[in-house]
Amino acid sequence: MKRFYVTTPIYYINAEPHLGHTYTMVVADTLARFHRARGSETFLVTGTDEHGDKIAAMAAEHGEPPKVYADRMSPLFQQAWQDCGFVVDQFVRTTDPRHERLVQEFLQRVYDNGDIYFSRYAGLYCTGCERFLTEKELVGGNCPDHKRPPELIEEENYFFRMTRYLPAVQQHFEAHADAIFPDHYRNEVLAMLASGGIGDLCISRPKSRLEWGIELPFDRRYVCYVWFDALISYVSGLKMHGEDTFRAFWPTAHHVMAKDILKPHAIFWPSMLLALGLPLFRRLLIHGYWVRGEAKMSKSLGNVIRPLDMKRQFGIDTLRYFLLREMAFGQDASFNEDAFVARVNADLANGLGNLVSRVLSMQQRYFAGCVQPLEGDTPADRDLQAAFAQALEEVPQWTEQLAFHRALEALWRALDRANKYVVDTAPFTLARNAQNLPRVGAILHRLLECLYTTAVLLSWFLPETSQKMFSLLGLDSPGHVPSNLGWGEHFPPGHRVRPPATLFPRIDLHRDEAAAPRPR
Ligand SMILES: [Zn+2]
Repeated sequence: MKRFYVTTPIYYINAEPHLGHTYTMVVADTLARFHRARGSETFLVTGTDEHGDKIAAMAAEHGEPPKVYADRMSPLFQQAWQDCGFVVDQFVRTTDPRHERLVQEFLQRVYDNGDIYFSRYAGLYCTGCERFLTEKELVGGNCPDHKRPPELIEEENYFFRMTRYLPAVQQHFEAHADAIFPDHYRNEVLAMLASGGIGDLCISRPKSRLEWGIELPFDRRYVCYVWFDALISYVSGLKMHGEDTFRAFWPTAHHVMAKDILKPHAIFWPSMLLALGLPLFRRLLIHGYWVRGEAKMSKSLGNVIRPLDMKRQFGIDTLRYFLLREMAFGQDASFNEDAFVARVNADLANGLGNLVSRVLSMQQRYFAGCVQPLEGDTPADRDLQAAFAQALEEVPQWTEQLAFHRALEALWRALDRANKYVVDTAPFTLARNAQNLPRVGAILHRLLECLYTTAVLLSWFLPETSQKMFSLLGLDSPGHVPSNLGWGEHFPPGHRVRPPATLFPRIDLHRDEAAAPRPR
């Protein structure tokens, strides 16, 4: 049995779900669906990161104990992903006792092996990052991410002997060219490792400063550093389903994340796994930021597009399509309203939606929905079939390479061909003469086959739309990617397809603006 394990980072509950989180979820969900369509058993883990300084501070701001705050915030994420239709196999909360026990077990194991030591440390601590920064990292005396000076803190702490494992981590990434994707992030990690600037990792916080965390099993005066806690969710999420699930899926682990957390995943996490005697994950898949103007999209910068509002307004597949089509995985992309409207109207409302509605309405008008024999074989017919055969080959290949934008582009090239075929063969003109009806029936049959192949190839990108299309065609999804088009085999004689339905309404923002002008 082929297997595929995919994770997203567990999200910090200091803000509601934003576009960045949603994109990561869409990618993980798309990959899981794709691998299922190719016959793999899949498992998707996401969750919420609920410990640490920032959460304790947010809870205090709301006048709540941290656990009460976490119990209120975590379901916002769980509910959001459910509303979006993402298929999550395990949602891990770091305050789940099953997770906490595993973190303690792992801490104890590393401690017993002599890889954790106690030491006095003085350093520059950023509460935003929840870690000590080096002088070199500062920009104008400030944390580069949080734009404020770190505090000088001197205290005794526990350290993970990470430096012992860095050479093995380096060798692993040198030997496995695809372990970090895209490749320039692997180069970045190898440069970080080669610089020699990475020391041991402080993995404790004294309770005198922070109580909100998992207690160290070997010293109850301390709690565990959030990253050491959070990364283990990738293992605890599987172990919650038993050791067999862990053993079966772990070797196929694909961690999807934004580029800002590359270092913990590429340096801390493999070192921890090696210290624990566990095999390393299979791949890190790193995506860029959604930007609007100059700033990265995140709540702290006050630049939020609320994904759930967008879902309610336009539907989840419209949002999925834009996110997957507009961003080249690994690079930054900009989210702007004009681009969104243009993309949705051109590709979804016109390109796909129109084709579906034209074909199904002609099928109703001329044949009462009854599918006709697939006869004849003109050059135009052969061109059309070749275009979809090419899409059937290319779309999975591009998906495999995480080039979702290219995959969709390839499918839309075929859809453009289908729309052109309608214009060129002009069934609506032919149908004026009853003698031509067999040819009209054959043309429409071919176009229905185009819709069938499209529904198959959209099943991992736009699952709702794919289902709707199969339902309009009156057929079940095959549930897998077929190896050839199989045109002529899908519609049994006498089969009826349904009347058309609007898949994607055109967006007309100007109309909305007239009703309720937005501030500029
Ligand atoms: Zn910081």
